Amino acid sequence: MARLRRAKKETVPPRRGASIVELRDVTKVYPGGHLAIERISLAVDRGEFVFLVGPTGCGKSTLIKLLIRELHPTEGEVVIAGRDIGKLSDQRIPHLRRNIGTVFQDFKLLPNRTVYDNVAYALQVIGAHRAEIREKVPETLRLVGLSTKLHNYPDQLSGGEQQRVSIARAFVNHPPLLLADEPSGNLDPVTSIGIMQLLYRINRTGTTVVVATHDHAMVDKMRRRVIEMYEGRIVRDQEIGGYASDESTQEFAMRMRAEMGVGPEGHTNGEPQESI
Ligand code: ADP
Ligand code: MG
Repeated sequence: MARLRRAKKETVPPRRGASIVELRDVTKVYPGGHLAIERISLAVDRGEFVFLVGPTGCGKSTLIKLLIRELHPTEGEVVIAGRDIGKLSDQRIPHLRRNIGTVFQDFKLLPNRTVYDNVAYALQVIGAHRAEIREKVPETLRLVGLSTKLHNYPDQLSGGEQQRVSIARAFVNHPPLLLADEPSGNLDPVTSIGIMQLLYRINRTGTTVVVATHDHAMVDKMRRRVIEMYEGRIVRDQEIGGYASDESTQEFAMRMRAEMGVGPEGHTNGEPQESI
């Protein structure tokens, strides 16, 4: 997380290890007394692709919200790129969030703006120059396979395409960390594979990706690290091997479709053919 590291003050102790995300003994009790997260410790290294799984209500979204300081832990520390974000001043929070892309189940697109403008907006709010916006927006929309839909409005897109716009918006600034909370929650299995393929492609650019989902079937087949939660605790943290680490996005998608019993002709929303 180069930008965060550059901004680090001399007084902050040096970062240990290669973790981009670290939870140290984190507990979250909601006002009213509900214990949503109970003494969770975990570390995610830079460049990893991690699934956070578990049944509805086990605390996945709470954990994601703790990572962007939408929520404060009741106890413990949340450390992003070596910094305890509980100690950041409120003025530093926009900077933190600029370095973390977020994707949600319900897309959260601006209905009155085109695909292009939805993505451009993410750069406008952080004060990007117009030249940068003109370069990065089409480039990112090409990456997500939406080059032909730049001037469409969200309600003219399928659910899968809308999610691609929201992923483009989260990634256009090339954040070192991307969090997705149930990104395929509203999508059919074929479209979900396309979304996972896209997140995998983004991961291959070096961005760390954390995906919360209750879709066990999908996750088990992806063969990536799985952190499983149950009633606020981690009950499994498993590195699942058996795939080539240099698997291209095309190979990845072919394997996923085969394992999920979906034909190769499954529509991919204009998925570009090059692999990275
Ligand atoms: P998941 O994303 O895994 O479905 P959540 O993190 O949304 O789980 O919720 C974990 C638990 O915390 C659930 O029991 C939920 O009802 C509770 N919870 C979530 N948000 C709040 C809140 N704002 N106030 C009180 N309880 C909450
Ligand atoms: Mg949730």
